[in-house]
Amino acid sequence: MRSDGAIENICEAEMTDEIAHRLAAVRSQIAQAAHAAGRRTDEIKLLAVSKYFSAHALRAAFAAGQSAFGESYLQEALVKIAALTDLNEQLEWHFIGPLQSNKTKLVATHFAWVHSVDRLKVAQRLSEQRPTELPPLNVCIQINISDEASKHGVPLEQAQTLAQAISQMPRLRLRGLMAIPAATSTLAAQRAPYRQLRHLFETLRTQGLALDTLSMGMSADLNAAVLEGTTLVRVGTAIFGQRSPSL
Ligand SMILES: *Cc1c(COP(=O)(O)O)cnc(C)c1O
Repeated sequence: MRSDGAIENICEAEMTDEIAHRLAAVRSQIAQAAHAAGRRTDEIKLLAVSKYFSAHALRAAFAAGQSAFGESYLQEALVKIAALTDLNEQLEWHFIGPLQSNKTKLVATHFAWVHSVDRLKVAQRLSEQRPTELPPLNVCIQINISDEASKHGVPLEQAQTLAQAISQMPRLRLRGLMAIPAATSTLAAQRAPYRQLRHLFETLRTQGLALDTLSMGMSADLNAAVLEGTTLVRVGTAIFGQRSPSL
């Protein structure tokens, strides 16, 4: 991890203030978007995406009331989880990055949630490897909704079969769906893929799956996601600042 990122090269007290300030701004953006959409703010959970930022930055966010953190890279996440063991009981770790089947055991052991399950084999391994002393692992299926160029996420047509299979796995609790649409700049274009994701979510619920989580919306398209019914936004840049592009 680099230590010369925008947030990290200022002193610790300033960093704590800056992150508290940014978090407050994100929370108020969510509240305003919820109000505009006629929704309750407490229906929308904020996941702070802390990839590339140090344990110090996470501590600052925790001090400002944030306890759910999303990480995309396993090795990097394990370093931070180890550095924050004193807060362990109070933190909720979400794995949101690409997941290879040789990494499932560590993910099943150290995380409470996985948002990026996109194939049967990975789900089976997570279920088998989830330690019995822990509650079932919360899982979202990642859907390849508008970004055909990306190799991540299950195609829309295969989502129902995968969801039904995962819902039968004893050590997983299927909570919902996640997507990372291709970046677009207009509100209408940002809303379209999230509307598709919500339709799939509703279809699965009518088929009897007890889903409660739509993991959609990031710094740049948070308002669109709130308008389309998100229940969990994954926000990195707006909380921690720009990530170093060299990583
Ligand atoms: C990095 C990342 C985010 C956060 O994106 P920002 O634009 O920084 O808010 C959200 N979701 C996933 C899956 C990510 O990898």
